[in-house]
Amino acid sequence: MIKENIEDVKMHIDNAVNKGKRNVDDVTLIAVSKTKPVIMLKEAYDAGMRDFGENKVQEIMEKYDKLPSDIRWHMIGHLQTNKVKYIADKIYMIHSVDSLKLAEEISKQAVKAGRVIPILIEVNIANEESKFGVAPLDAEALIRSIAPLPGVSVKGLMTVAPYTDDPEDNRTYFRALKQLSVDITSKNIDNITMGVLSMGMTGDYEVAIEEGASYVRVGTGIFGARNYAVG
Ligand SMILES: *Cc1c(COP(=O)(O)O)cnc(C)c1O
Repeated sequence: MIKENIEDVKMHIDNAVNKGKRNVDDVTLIAVSKTKPVIMLKEAYDAGMRDFGENKVQEIMEKYDKLPSDIRWHMIGHLQTNKVKYIADKIYMIHSVDSLKLAEEISKQAVKAGRVIPILIEVNIANEESKFGVAPLDAEALIRSIAPLPGVSVKGLMTVAPYTDDPEDNRTYFRALKQLSVDITSKNIDNITMGVLSMGMTGDYEVAIEEGASYVRVGTGIFGARNYAVG
């Protein structure tokens, strides 16, 4: 079932790539495997997936040693500074950086681990009360403050768009995140690139791709609904 789901998602990605006149190589599917058991991740791996998204440090640590080492682990959830040290040597990219304090801790742990960690700045693009992420108007200042830090490299922006039944509702937000990345690119800040846009989930990844997404984060569409009571 997982294999078929992945094929189905990839078909929809291809359609969106064509519709948005994008290049298929510029769009990467992340399998969001939070709450799902290792056996299901293995199934996705065997179907060709190499990029996995998780939102809890504990869960990454539990799964990491049980799965092949060529997996690229993406941290997509809110990250507490005191937990960065556990994943600094494991994580491929951190999508959810929304404060200087967190970036400083990632910097410190990355330097300790002898590496540079690619990060994305999470933007609360719709200014929702309940959401993590920096306000769009504060993004540039945050990025300027992070730019000089060793051990971290800002690669772009990430957003979690509002929950909606109609993906078209989020087109304006995806477009706004893309525009923000263009605006920040034009500032030519040292050590900062804006090539990566992490946006779009099961309900709206096609629209996100049409509007410029480079990472789409799909959980339910690949693994089925999550059962938090059991997980
Ligand atoms: C859970 C989650 C996803 C995947 O959501 P689905 O609707 O199941 O595809 C994507 N991004 C983030 C940040 C998430 O927490």
